[in-house]
Amino acid sequence: MTRSGAVTFDVVIVGGGPVGLVTALLLARFGVSSAVLEAADGRAAAGSRAICFQRDVLDVFGRVGCGDALVARGVTWTTGRTYYRGTELFSVSFPEPDEGATPPWINISQAEVERRLCGLVAAEPLIDLRYGHRVVGLEQDGGGVEAIVDGRGRVRAAYAVGADGAHSDVRRLLGIGFPGRSFADRFLICDVRAELPFPRERRFHFDPVWNPGRQVLVHPCPDSVWRIDQQVPDGFDLDAERASGALDARIRRIVGDVPYEIVWTTAYRFHQRCAETFRAGRAFLAGDAAHVFAPFGARGLNSGVQDAENLAWKLAFVLRHGAPGRLLGSYDAERRAAALENLRVTGRTMEFLVPRTPEQRARRVAALERALHDPDARAEIDSGRLAEPYRYADSPLTTPSGPSGPFLPGALCPDVRAPWAANRCGCGGCSARAWCC
Ligand SMILES: Cc1cc2nc3c(=O)[nH]c(=O)nc-3n(C[C@H](O)[C@H](O)[C@H](O)COP(=O)(O)OP(=O)(O)OC[C@H]3O[C@@H](n4cnc5c(N)ncnc54)[C@H](O)[C@@H]3O)c2cc1C
Repeated sequence: MTRSGAVTFDVVIVGGGPVGLVTALLLARFGVSSAVLEAADGRAAAGSRAICFQRDVLDVFGRVGCGDALVARGVTWTTGRTYYRGTELFSVSFPEPDEGATPPWINISQAEVERRLCGLVAAEPLIDLRYGHRVVGLEQDGGGVEAIVDGRGRVRAAYAVGADGAHSDVRRLLGIGFPGRSFADRFLICDVRAELPFPRERRFHFDPVWNPGRQVLVHPCPDSVWRIDQQVPDGFDLDAERASGALDARIRRIVGDVPYEIVWTTAYRFHQRCAETFRAGRAFLAGDAAHVFAPFGARGLNSGVQDAENLAWKLAFVLRHGAPGRLLGSYDAERRAAALENLRVTGRTMEFLVPRTPEQRARRVAALERALHDPDARAEIDSGRLAEPYRYADSPLTTPSGPSGPFLPGALCPDVRAPWAANRCGCGGCSARAWCC
C-alpha cells in the first residue's frame, strides 16, 4: 500500500478483454506483476466477435501457454476463394503446415480464446484480475500512475496500459483523440450450427443469389458452426426479421433444407479509427482502444495481440533489465505505423465492398464482370486482404543493413526447422519435431 492507500503493481492494465489478458500473461513471463481491472462483473457466456487468428498471433498464444490447445480445437484453413454470382474468380492458398508447425490460420471463437486466457491468468500469481472494477480516473507523476476505480479506491503501478476497447475511458482520460470514420453500412453475422457440405475454406461471395447486389462471407468454425457474415440493406432490423421469419428465410437461402441452430447473431457497423498517439507519459493504449478496423481481413484482435506482444517485452526490459526508458517510445512508433497500414488496407477493401457513389458502384460491377474472363482484372477485386505481420522498417530500433535475403531488418524472422537446436535455447517450447523459437 502507498501513502494514498493505493495497492501497487508493476503495471496496471485497464480492460480484461483479450488484449489486456495477453498483455498480463506476457508480462508475467518476464516476472512482471500486473493488476487487470475489468469493468464487467464476469465474462459473457455467448457470442464471438473475432474468429480468425493468424500464425504469428498463434505463436504468441503459444508463448503464454494456450497455442497448442487453440490449434487443436480450432479449424485450420489454408485456402480462401472469391466468387462473383456463383463463379469462382480466384483463390489464395497458404502452404499446408508441416507436422508440429503453427498453421497459417485457424478459426475459433474469441469467446473460447478468452476463456483459455482466463484459465491461464487464474493460475498466474503475478496477475491480479479484478472484475467489477471500472476505471474512472487516471493520474500520473514522475514515479508512477494511479488508476481510480469507481467506488473501490486506487491502484498504483509504474506503468498503465489502456486495453479497454473501442470506447476506451483511458484514451478519453488521457485526452487522446480517435480520428477516423464510422460507416452507416450494416452487416449481419449469423453463427449457425449445421451439417453443411461446405469445405473448410474462407469463401467470399459477391452478388450471390442468396443476397443479390450485396455480399456474403462464409467461414468454418469448430463444432459444425459456420459464420455467415452478410451485408444487409439500410433499415435492416434484426428483431423484426427474427419475429417475421425473414431471418430464417435469409439463413435457409444459404444452408438449404438441413436442420440448423442459431448460436449467435448480431448486426454491426464498422469503424476505421486510430488514436493520435499510443502513449501519454506512463500510460499506453493497446488493441481496440488504440485502433479499430473493418473486420474483413481479420486485423482487429490479431493486431491487438501484436500490440500486447510489442509493449510487454519493452515494459519488462525497462522494469527488470535496466533498458533505458526511451525504449518505450518505439512502441508508439512501431505499433501506430502498423495500425495506419491496417487502416489503409482495410479502407481500400471497404471502398470496394461498400462503394459510396454511383460511379464507384459502376466501377465495382465492371471490375467484377471483367474478372470473370480476364485474369489481369482480378487484381482489382478486393474481398479483404488477410493480415500479415507488419515490418518495422522505419522503427528507431531497426538498423539499416545490406541485402539480407529473407531476413529483412524489422521483419518477423521466417521459421526454420532446427532439430539440432532442440531445447538448447532453453525456452522449453521447442522439440526435435517442432519449430525452434
Ligand atoms: C463483428 C466483428 C468481427 C470481428 N472479427 C475479427 C476477426 O476475425 N479477427 C480479428 O482479429 N478481429 C476481429 N474483430 C475485432 C475484435 O473483436 C476486437 O479487435 C477485439 O475484441 C479487441 O480486443 P480488446 O481486448 O482490445 O477490446 P475488448 O474486447 O473490447 O475488451 C475491452 C475490455 O475493457 C473493458 N472496459 C471498458 N472500459 C473499461 C473501464 N473504464 N474500466 C475497466 N474495464 C473497462 C470492457 O468491459 C472489455 O472487457 C471483430 C470485431 C467485430 C465487431
